[in-house]
Amino acid sequence: MTDAIRPLIAGNWKMNGLKAQAAEFDAMLDRAAEVTGKADLLVCPPATLIAAFADKARGKKVAVGAQDCHPKASGAHTGDIAAEMLVDAGASAVIVGHSERRADHCEDDALVRQKTEAAWRAGATAIVCIGETQAQRDAGQTLEILGGQLAGSLPESSTAANLVVAYEPVWAIGTGLTPTTRDVEQIHGFIREFLTSRFKADGASMRILYGGSVKPSNAAELMAVKNVNGALVGGASLKAADFLAIAKGCP
Ligand code: PEP
Repeated sequence: MTDAIRPLIAGNWKMNGLKAQAAEFDAMLDRAAEVTGKADLLVCPPATLIAAFADKARGKKVAVGAQDCHPKASGAHTGDIAAEMLVDAGASAVIVGHSERRADHCEDDALVRQKTEAAWRAGATAIVCIGETQAQRDAGQTLEILGGQLAGSLPESSTAANLVVAYEPVWAIGTGLTPTTRDVEQIHGFIREFLTSRFKADGASMRILYGGSVKPSNAAELMAVKNVNGALVGGASLKAADFLAIAKGCP
């Protein structure tokens, strides 16, 4: 963990959550003070719950974010949601380029870059996800793939305030598998080098999250790795106890 960078623990609820299940979010709000010395907290529920969660979270220590946005601000795009609408509903951050969207919706780096700019246009922070597949890893292409995703997805005007990078190996998402801490250190070091060389003013202070099967039992070990500035958490973010235990694992 880079000392000067305050960790962020971000929860990605994916396509999970009905109004009736908001109790877990209420518990996060109630107990957030237990971890505010450790990390910032962000929960990204499905879009249907953003407004209700943001209302509950007003004045509390948990921010609310979104999982995706359309690049445009408005228009004839049935079923899509503009970043402006998400911010209007109370989101302060938008996840873009998650591997599930890259795979399920054929999203490429150019589109992820446009979505990043859309999040900024609306006034939200963009959490840009990158990660290699198992096949790419097996072929020894991890750094090449990540370098290409970073170069293609990050706009020139990225700053430490408007951008968070999340490294999420695709093979580690929802599988219970994680890279070794040595691999995480090498890859996060590579991402840091990319950021510092491309964004001279802010690259050293941008947050780089690790994501992929983070849980209470492995959080402390992963969060202690150099250049790991928090986590993007899927499954374990659905339970307040697990989500807060992960935050407690920050050094
Ligand atoms: C994710 O999808 O962003 C993620 C990290 O999922 P999980 O924690 O469930 O592996």
